[in-house]
Amino acid sequence: MTIGIWVLGDQLSAQQAALQSVADQKAPVSVILIESLNHIRERWYHRQKLVLVWSAMRHFAKELRQARWSVTYTEAEDFEPALQTWCQAEGITELRIMQPNDRPFAHMIQTLRLPCPLTLVQNNHFLWSETDFQAWAKTRKRLLMEDFYREGRRRFQVLMEGTKPVGGAWNFDAENRKPPKAGLNPPPPLWFAPDALTQAVIDKVESLDMELYGEAKPFRWGVTRQHALQVLEEFIRDRLPTFGPYEDAMLTAHKTLWHGLLSPYLNLGLLQPLEVVEAAEKAYHDRHLDLNSVEGFIRQVMGWREYMRGIYVSMEDDYPTRNWFNHTQPLPAFYWNAETTMNCLHQVLTQVQEMGYAHHIQRLMVLNNFALIAGISPQAIENWFHAAFIDGYDWVMQPNVIGMGQFADGGIVASKPYAASANYINRMSDYCQGCAYDPRKRTGDRACPFNFFYWDFLARHRDKLKSQGRINLVLANLDKMLTEELQQIRQHAIDWHREQGSGESTS
Ligand SMILES: Cc1cc2nc3c(=O)[nH]c(=O)nc-3n(C[C@H](O)[C@H](O)[C@H](O)COP(=O)(O)OP(=O)(O)OC[C@H]3O[C@@H](n4cnc5c(N)ncnc54)[C@H](O)[C@@H]3O)c2cc1C
Ligand code: SF4
Repeated sequence: MTIGIWVLGDQLSAQQAALQSVADQKAPVSVILIESLNHIRERWYHRQKLVLVWSAMRHFAKELRQARWSVTYTEAEDFEPALQTWCQAEGITELRIMQPNDRPFAHMIQTLRLPCPLTLVQNNHFLWSETDFQAWAKTRKRLLMEDFYREGRRRFQVLMEGTKPVGGAWNFDAENRKPPKAGLNPPPPLWFAPDALTQAVIDKVESLDMELYGEAKPFRWGVTRQHALQVLEEFIRDRLPTFGPYEDAMLTAHKTLWHGLLSPYLNLGLLQPLEVVEAAEKAYHDRHLDLNSVEGFIRQVMGWREYMRGIYVSMEDDYPTRNWFNHTQPLPAFYWNAETTMNCLHQVLTQVQEMGYAHHIQRLMVLNNFALIAGISPQAIENWFHAAFIDGYDWVMQPNVIGMGQFADGGIVASKPYAASANYINRMSDYCQGCAYDPRKRTGDRACPFNFFYWDFLARHRDKLKSQGRINLVLANLDKMLTEELQQIRQHAIDWHREQGSGESTS
């Protein structure tokens, strides 16, 4: 009788629940990790994401072997035959898997024909278990992130003085929205040179004959827990003290600013959310860091990240297909090749091609904002995000893109759409300097597409937006606009789509 454990590519922790479940077992245990080619044929991926996941899996397998686990590492066409062969060869009588994060994968493993029973072990890679989130959700009329975050702070006793938040407030966001200024000098991110194992994966990915996105080289991400811990340590030492004030800023020369670049590691299981939160809290107490920076960061990990996962597990199966605004425009080709005269999009898209990463405001207020106001289908933009990002997984992508970015869920995640004109981008970045368009113009020559699409979006969806009630001030400005100007704006939007070859109407 041998227990088999299938470790998935985003479950790379020695503490993960399926491995832990055999800690006191007398029966022999055998572990498998599988690189499946068919799996990556199902949708496009960034080449660096494949390198990251496969190299991290290979390194994890090596570490498990060093810790005396019996490990099989398989490069296969498909999961099912690889598992069948392995189960028979090893005499596996029960296969255990930690509950997958992503629903499609969870459904897929239930359809596998295996020679032994399958046991799912409760996922322990989040602070909140699925059951705990759902129990909390049952007590609420609306699933507000702020309420959830405060409950998390109380529950895990983070930045608390008894029942009160440290510093007397839960939220210091008002101090964290500074526009960039000249002379900002954030520390460069910590990168790693590929070792032989990673180089072999880069070669494999570069030789694959299939549709993929982005560039495989230079590949500089960490691929082991040791690397991830170094990134965390560097972040806590050099970036956390000033994380807050320029959290929303965007600069051409400093693409990552003070952001942690921790999501690829957290999402693979190389870092655990509690250790990240505890490291930040400890630094606050030991080094008397500014609370706006520390709270701002802890809010991201304890608040937003856990909340998004909770939303994902609580929503109906139709969540990914939602489309509250009925947007149907196809995705413009420049999302794939970065070839656009809109400098903000060009800069961020080039960065994503090169490294599979953009920080939160680049994702939300440039990439998503444009898709939202231009009326792109939420599913088309979600599909692109999934392909383009190194940290993209269903559980985190869907609530972020369908919910927060596109408001396609009608206001479950966000209380109002994150729609903005060029004014926001001009204030929060240096992208508009030297752009082909004028961020102050909404009609005529050099009118910025973010402007005419923004006002066109408001006009097209006026009634729906009014029913939301959160942007009535902006709608009052829309009502003051002359009919003639509104018509010109509409015409710009129609012409723009026509030039893209994407049809005349913007739903
Ligand atoms: C449209 C859109 C798509 C996104 N897609 C992804 C995705 O595929 N994968 C992903 O991990 N994050 C996604 N995010 C959330 C967020 O942008 C990234 O987690 C963050 O930019 C990662 O960079 P960082 O580690 O430098 O973050 P930091 O700014 O240093 O933040 C610290 C950590 O907080 C967590 N976090 C912050 N906000 C969120 C959030 N909204 N959802 C989940 N975690 C959050 C991340 O784990 C992040 O590592 C998306 C956000 C938007 C608006
Ligand atoms: S002018 Fe418009 S298109 Fe150009 S960078 Fe600014 S917001 Fe982007």
